[in-house]
Order: sequence, then C-alpha cells, then structure tokens
Amino acid sequence: MPGYFSTTMKSQISVVQCDGYDQDRVFQAVRRSVDLLGGIGRFVRPGQRVLLKPNLLVPSSPERGVVTHPMVVKAVLEMVKKAGGVPVIGDSPGFGTAHRVAAKAGIAQVGEEMGCPILDFEDTVEVKTPDDFTFRRFEVAREAVECDVVINLPKIKTHAQMLLTLSVKNMFGCIPGFAKPGWHLKAGRDRNYFARMLVELNAVLKPHLTIMDGIVAMEGRGPSSGNTRPLDMVLAGTDCVALDSTVTHLLGLPRDRLWTTRAAMEDHTGIATPDRIELLGASLVDLAVSRFEIPQAWDVTWGLPSFIQGFLRDAVTPRPVIDRDRCKECLNCVEVCPPNAMKKEAEGIVIDPEGCIRCYCCQEICPEGAIEIRAGLLSRALGIFRGCGSR
Ligand code: SF4
Ligand code: SF4
Repeated sequence: MPGYFSTTMKSQISVVQCDGYDQDRVFQAVRRSVDLLGGIGRFVRPGQRVLLKPNLLVPSSPERGVVTHPMVVKAVLEMVKKAGGVPVIGDSPGFGTAHRVAAKAGIAQVGEEMGCPILDFEDTVEVKTPDDFTFRRFEVAREAVECDVVINLPKIKTHAQMLLTLSVKNMFGCIPGFAKPGWHLKAGRDRNYFARMLVELNAVLKPHLTIMDGIVAMEGRGPSSGNTRPLDMVLAGTDCVALDSTVTHLLGLPRDRLWTTRAAMEDHTGIATPDRIELLGASLVDLAVSRFEIPQAWDVTWGLPSFIQGFLRDAVTPRPVIDRDRCKECLNCVEVCPPNAMKKEAEGIVIDPEGCIRCYCCQEICPEGAIEIRAGLLSRALGIFRGCGSR
C-alpha cells in the first residue's frame, strides 16, 4: 500500500499536565494543548459545523472512568464556540442511545448549558476508500462525513480485545450500532484484521483534531470494568496513530504492541515512530507512567509467528467467564453478542465456547462488571499469565 502520509512529514503532539477535573485547570490544560498546535483558529472557522466525538461507551457516571469526562467536553465546547463554530456532540454507543449515555455521563447537562445538541448516529452514508485499502467501503454516521470539522475526544483506557482504546479505536463509534456486530463477527478471531479495519476507517474519517482525556485513565479490566488511574495529562494532535503511539510509550509499553499502531505502520496510514513525532509541552520523562495495569490474561500469542498463533489460539486465548454472583441477568450481553453465543438458561447466562469468537463485546457492555476475561486452559496450566497483568 503506498504511503497515505508523507514519509518526510513530522506529526506534532502536545502533552499538558493537568491534575484533576477542576474546571479552571481543565480549561487551561485543554486550551494549552490546542494552542501548542497553533490554536483553535487553525481548526475551526466561524460558522463551521463541528462534531465532537467523545467516548460514550455505555451509561456510566464520570468518576468511573468509562466515558470522556464532561469537563473535557465542556472545555472543548467553550473553545469551539469562541472560535465561532457550531458544535454538536455525537456518538453511537456500544449499548443504549447517545442521549442516555450522555445523560448518565454528565455530558448532556454540559451540552444543555453550552447550547449544544446531542446526536445519536443513526443516519448513515457509504464512504468509498482509496483503491489500495483492504476494505472497499464503510457505512458510517452521516454527521461524521458531512460536518465541516471532526474533533475526536477519546479517553485513555485498557481494552480486553485490543489492549488499549485510544484515539484510533474511538472513531469506531462512527460506525452505527446496528453495523458493529457485523464487524466484530468478521474481526473477532483476527485482531490484525480488526486493527486494519480501524486504521483504515480512521484514515478515511480523518478527524481534524484529537484531544485525549488522560487526566484519569482506566487500567486493568477496561474498557468498562477496570480501575481508575490518575495520569494527570491532556494530549492533542492531528494524527491519531502518532497520538496512540505516544501514549503507549508513556504507559511503558512498546509502541508497536498496540495492534492498530502496528497495522498503521505496515500500511503507512499514520505516523508512529519517535523520530517522526515532534513533542510539544510537558516532558514525557516527567509524565511517564509506572506499572500501568494492562488487561489480565491479555494476549500471550503476541509476538509469536502467525502459524503458531493459529495453532495455540484456542488453547491460550482468554475467554469470557460469567461471575454469577455479580450478574443481574439484564441480558445486555446476550443482546450484544455478535455470533449469538450467549443465552439465558435456568442456572443463569451461559456461553457456547464453540460459538464464542473472543470479541469481548459482552465484557465491554456489562454494567455490573460480571464478565471476567480468563486465560485459556493451556496458558493457565503453564502459568503463562502469572503476573503478566501489570507492569
Ligand atoms: S453478565 Fe452482565 S451484561 Fe450479562 S446479563 Fe449479567 S449483568 Fe447483564
Ligand atoms: S460470548 Fe462475549 S466474547 Fe464471546 S462472542 Fe459473545 S460477546 Fe464476544
């Protein structure tokens, strides 16, 4: 695939320290992160329609660290309005409507206060991709294509299937809810395939600006059942891959350990290597994170040749297990499971191990944190996972 980005271009990433969600501090940090890139005027002109795309995964209060914090959204809204832009907040959550998730997340209140509507991505449009892309077309939210400016507002979180969910993965929310299970079905057994889809979708949608909420992140059992972890930072940039590469490095992981970053490096759909990234603002040394807990039992096949990965996959791939004491039998997981591998029986929710494609959508969606991702039999027998959950 020919380079989607110039091979000589450097990508600028700003990193600003911010401890806590106090309004003044957040406003200052978000503004500084954008000022370092040239100011909001570089991205938003008077009269332009601006889509803000936060992470609205599931209905969850802001202090749980599942959704982009409303104070970050408010700070961006304030900047956009000052620049004369006409903002709208939109997403297609994993479960429920954007209105419902935004209300629980405190984002609807912020929107109301700032005169900004919330939009559920329902109306779609087909987007053709460049000839050299693996995926020929995407059906995406019309608003994401037809607005003048897209501002991506991800949150730093771990992710059971993809290791981390950062800027590239956040744009998956522009695929409307009814189409997501189809992608998970196709991609569930092959993270490379899913990662390639995510980077190509991101390259097609090309958010003009990404501002990342890393003030309080989620570690451990992300993206919805992990623990909050203050990282005290806001990052911004125009290349999602460069941003994700920088954050992965800050978290103490090799940059190419993130599936999407690796796919983008192979296909030149983003900039990921440190020599091509210009850092502005705070020093990475000051903000480096120690012992960030990655999802337990995550990916022992990483780094192995693909034929061995295939052979070992079923024996070692982590699988979802229901914690019956926590489960409230809301059936969200049954509804969302792409291959219909879950059902309710007399004893509770059961999972068909043959049908399960290990997409972990159920864990992502469970409001009770009742789905644990457990190591495969072989890896447990060999003790491969002992202590691999944190670093
Ligand atoms: S496991 Fe979670 S999502 Fe599934 S039924 Fe139980 S509480 Fe609901
Ligand atoms: S049981 Fe969970 S991990 Fe397995 S296919 Fe269904 S949603 Fe995906």
